Amino acid sequence: MNDDHLAISALQHYAYCPRQFALIHIEQVWEENRFTAEGRVLHERVDSTVAEQRREKRYERSVLLHSQQYGLTGKMDLLEIEEGEPLHYFPVEYKRGKPKVHDWDRIQLCAQALCLEEMRSVAVNEGALWYWEVRKRELVSINTELRESTIAVIKAARTLLNLGKTPAPIKDKKRCRACSLVNVCEPDTFRRDHSAAYIDELFK
Ligand code: SF4
Repeated sequence: MNDDHLAISALQHYAYCPRQFALIHIEQVWEENRFTAEGRVLHERVDSTVAEQRREKRYERSVLLHSQQYGLTGKMDLLEIEEGEPLHYFPVEYKRGKPKVHDWDRIQLCAQALCLEEMRSVAVNEGALWYWEVRKRELVSINTELRESTIAVIKAARTLLNLGKTPAPIKDKKRCRACSLVNVCEPDTFRRDHSAAYIDELFK
């Protein structure tokens, strides 16, 4: 495994906000709050390496993932494998909150599917996101559109990582209010502060 592999969970950070991705993965900033603590506890609960067979389905938990092609590494919460010809591979990712309109969580799931396809030489056409807050499973089609969005995020996240520069806050204030890093990011302060752009312009 190469050190320059991206964590699959980092793709969700980038998709949500490139600045959040940079704060966590370039500046190594993290702030524990209610949301992150609940997410951690949820994953601790479902974290298990014990596989089980129930009727025609096998359940593998905490499956380690990597992709040489996309330079990814990570872990899948649950992999369901249903008997058949061919076997039906179905990744499941547990999430603390509730289903979202945007693809942030679906991109993370799709990246898991890409890894699985490369590691086991199989096709993964669908998976699911399970949301703890609403106790609901959302079925996700791993279709061409989602694959293209995911690959675009992988490329963009790697470019930003190589650049090593934290971008300005996003314009979507509603998203900032729900962001776990809002206190360390200080988006309103940085939106008002135009000095960085001014200095960049001077040295162009
Ligand atoms: S507070 Fe807003 S700009 Fe800052 S990291 Fe979070 S989403 Fe991005």
